[in-house]
Amino acid sequence: MLPLSIESHFLDALPVDPSDDPRPRQVWRACASRVSPHSAAAPRLLAYSPSCAALLGLESHTSTAAFLDTFSGNQLHPDMQPYAMAYGGHQFGHWAGQLGDGRAIALGEVRGLDTQRYTLQLKGAGPTPYSRHADGFAVLRSSIREFLCSEAMHYLGVPSTRVLSLIATGNEVVRDQFYDGNPRPEPGAVVCRVSPSFLRFGHFELPASRQDPDTLRELVRYALQRDYPDIDSEDLPQACAEMFRQVCERTATLMVHWMRVGFVHGVMNTDNLSLIGETIDYGPYGWLEETDREWTPNTTDSGGRYSFGRQSQVALWNLSRLAGALLPIIGNEAPLYEALEHYEQRYSAQYQSMMADKLGLSTPDEAFAEQTWLLMEAQRADMTLFFRTLSAPLAQITPAALAATCYGEPQQEAFESWWQQYRLLADGDAGRSERMRHTNPSFVLKNYLVQQAIEEAEQGEMGRFAALHEAMRHPYDEPASAWVLEKRPAWASTPGCSQLSCSS
Ligand code: AMP
Ligand code: MG
Repeated sequence: MLPLSIESHFLDALPVDPSDDPRPRQVWRACASRVSPHSAAAPRLLAYSPSCAALLGLESHTSTAAFLDTFSGNQLHPDMQPYAMAYGGHQFGHWAGQLGDGRAIALGEVRGLDTQRYTLQLKGAGPTPYSRHADGFAVLRSSIREFLCSEAMHYLGVPSTRVLSLIATGNEVVRDQFYDGNPRPEPGAVVCRVSPSFLRFGHFELPASRQDPDTLRELVRYALQRDYPDIDSEDLPQACAEMFRQVCERTATLMVHWMRVGFVHGVMNTDNLSLIGETIDYGPYGWLEETDREWTPNTTDSGGRYSFGRQSQVALWNLSRLAGALLPIIGNEAPLYEALEHYEQRYSAQYQSMMADKLGLSTPDEAFAEQTWLLMEAQRADMTLFFRTLSAPLAQITPAALAATCYGEPQQEAFESWWQQYRLLADGDAGRSERMRHTNPSFVLKNYLVQQAIEEAEQGEMGRFAALHEAMRHPYDEPASAWVLEKRPAWASTPGCSQLSCSS
């Protein structure tokens, strides 16, 4: 048995669905339903996160049968009481009603070595009452994407849910990957995700939409106690308003991180925004390769609602939906509007200061930062390579080296004139390059890199996956695997490699 001390605080503190009918259905006046993970026919541990295992005190147990049994869902620890949570959400701007953990099953909470409580959650362990028309399973390719990206974000210093393990189930899962009427069986997998909280904005929207103030109030109390324990919750309306303000702050910080590293979430529905400001739910995400703020990796998002450059505005829209859900508790719109304004100011100040760090300027220069984006867009510069090239000591940079980060034929004169201006503004001090190298990663998890790892893994070969996993743990260093530094090759600009659908 694994040395875990498991609590089920979520089930103890909140109303639980009285029915154990596993079939898809509406669940009223409850925050969770008890469920059982589906068994894995031939589970195989493909990867684990050494630092996450260490955090949970499991580092010497990752090769045990108990680890494989527990995190494949085959045989749980006797204290685990698995459950799926109820939440709703606005999807692509429209209220979608009840959604919930359709392919995620929480196992309970444990304490990390840092004394923080963490919930363990299996993703892809089978159907729940929230699975709607889908099967509750996950395919290997999407599980690899979730695993690697969670690790990449963590080591980039971006708040994110974490991953403990990636296990191939040995079960087949049928998917129509390109939505072209060609479903095929694919290998299934389960990831164990780890986070202090899996609460989403949509958790609050669901009881609010159903005019169920009791469930809403209990959820707010729970969130205050567990996720915002520093807020004095004596006066609930006031505490709830303060919590919302802090959610706004964390969300602003998260959006600035995404802009810093060129990350595009791809499906910023309100059910995919975390109450504690972590990146959550890795689906058709992507990273800017050639700079284009209107780019989204999600082929399903034809209007570009969730494109790179719109993320902070969409987060604000989502926060407004959360504000609406919390209004019945707070009873007064004023603090909510104030917090939303605070979000905008916070985002804008942090964004400008982050851009100054990226550019190596001692003070923010909004106009020059915008001019830099325009140059990178017009010249199709690779965002990561451009900023990393710029992070060298000034004497070692040439306009030609910056131009070499472009896709296609760059205009050298455009880089030369930008460079003349930059030389006048740039921070000349000795710490400039050092500061920039902590802000500008030398590489990110470009989609084609993951795609190559997936194609190999589907053939049973984990070498490239392991090399990527290792490289992603040191994104600000010069990597041992030089191939992660390359520009996206021409063959990889097609859907599947640089863009994905929601079925990913
Ligand atoms: P997503 O867009 O991946 O965040 O998912 C939106 C909703 O669909 C959530 O309620 C998910 O739990 C549910 N969902 C997505 N994929 C599946 C699946 N394979 N089986 C069951 N539910 C799913
Ligand atoms: Mg989701």
